[in-house]
Amino acid sequence: MRFETKAIRIGEEPDIENGSGDVVSPIHLSTTFARKRVDMLPGGYEYSRTANPTRDALERKLAALEDARFGLAFSSGMATETTALLALLRSGDHVIAFDDLYGGTKRLFRTFGRNFGVDFTYVDARDPDEVASAVKDNTRMIWLETPTNPLMKMCDIEEISEIAHDKGIIVAVDNTFATPYFQNPLKLGADIVVHSTTKYINGHSDSVGGAIMLSDEEMHERLRFHQNSSGAILSPFDSYMTLRGIKTLAVRMREHERNAMRIAEYLESHPKVRRVYYPGLESHPQHGLAKKQMSGYGGMISFEIYDTVKDATKFAESLRLFSLAESLGGVESLIEIPALMTHSSVPEEERRHIGISDTLIRMSVGIENVEDLIEDIEGAMEAL
Ligand SMILES: *Cc1c(COP(=O)(O)O)cnc(C)c1O
Repeated sequence: MRFETKAIRIGEEPDIENGSGDVVSPIHLSTTFARKRVDMLPGGYEYSRTANPTRDALERKLAALEDARFGLAFSSGMATETTALLALLRSGDHVIAFDDLYGGTKRLFRTFGRNFGVDFTYVDARDPDEVASAVKDNTRMIWLETPTNPLMKMCDIEEISEIAHDKGIIVAVDNTFATPYFQNPLKLGADIVVHSTTKYINGHSDSVGGAIMLSDEEMHERLRFHQNSSGAILSPFDSYMTLRGIKTLAVRMREHERNAMRIAEYLESHPKVRRVYYPGLESHPQHGLAKKQMSGYGGMISFEIYDTVKDATKFAESLRLFSLAESLGGVESLIEIPALMTHSSVPEEERRHIGISDTLIRMSVGIENVEDLIEDIEGAMEAL
C-alpha cells in the first residue's frame, strides 16, 4: 500500500465476521475490560492505560505512516520525549543534540540532565563532523530535529546515523515539521522517530498528542513498559480525533506545501523583506540536502522584515486571516514572532547565537486559498 492508502485504511479494517463492521474506529471509553476466568483475556485488553482499542488502532496507523513495526501514542509531544528519555537513558549517559531544537525540548533536557545525571552536548548538526567530534565513550543517544524551528536548519540524517551506528548510539529524530509524508527518518537510518501529533499529523488544532515510531523490538518493549508505567497515554477521544486527522494528511501536506512555496517566493521578492527561510527556495543554503532527504518542503516559513521589532509586531498584528498564535500545522494559517512568543524562554544570548533575531517572523501556512493569504500579507506590508 502507498502512503495515502495506508493513512486511510491501516488500523481501521472493518470487522465484518465478529464485530459490527464499523468503517471508522469507535471511541472505546471503557477503562477496564471484563474476563470470564482470571487467566483469560478474550479481547486481549485488561485496563485502558496499558492498552485501549481506539489507541491501538491509532498506534497501528502511526506505525504505518513511517513504515515502522511499532507506534506508540502519548498525551503530548513532550510526554513522548519524557518517556523516551526515561526508557532509553541511564544516569551517567551522554546525549548529543542539535543546538537548534524546539524550546520545550531544550527545557526538558535541561531539567532531565540536571536531575538524573545525564550530560547533554549541543552541536551545530548541519555539519556532521561536529556531531562526530562530540562523541564520547558514554554517548548513548543523538537527538535531532530537521528542519528546525524556527530557522529551518537541516541535518543529514543518513550521514549522522552512520556515525552513530558504528558506535551503537541511538539516533532519535523529531519529524514534526516535515511529517512522514515528506520525510522518513527510519529509512535514512534513524532508530526512533518522534512527533508532536498536535501539529500536522492531527492537523486541525484540536488535539494535543505525541507519538513514537520505531522498528527495534527491544527498544519498543522498553518504551511500551514506560508508556504504561509512567502513564502519559493519549486518551480514547484524542486517539479518535488523530485517527480522523491522519486520513487527510497527504492531501493537506500537498496543499500546505503549494501555498507555502507561493508565499515564500512572494516574500523573497518583496522589498520590505530582508531574508526568507524556506527549504524549498534555491536561496536556502541547504536546499540541496532538503532535495536529497525530503520529498517536499512543508508549510513552515520564517522571514525577517526591515527594520525594527515594532515593524515586525505591527505586521503580525495587521494581518486579518493569519491568526496571531503559537503552535503550527493546522489547516488555518498562523503567524508569530519567535523572540517574543514561542522562543521567549530561550535566553537572548542563545537566541543570537542560533540566529533568531527580534524581527524574525514565523508563519505556519494553512490551506486556505493562497490568493487570499497573499492579499492579507500585502495589506499588512502596506500598513508598515
Ligand atoms: C510542538 C512541538 C513539540 C512539543 O509537542 P507538544 O505536543 O506541544 O507537547 C516538540 N517538537 C516540535 C518540533 C514541536 O513543534
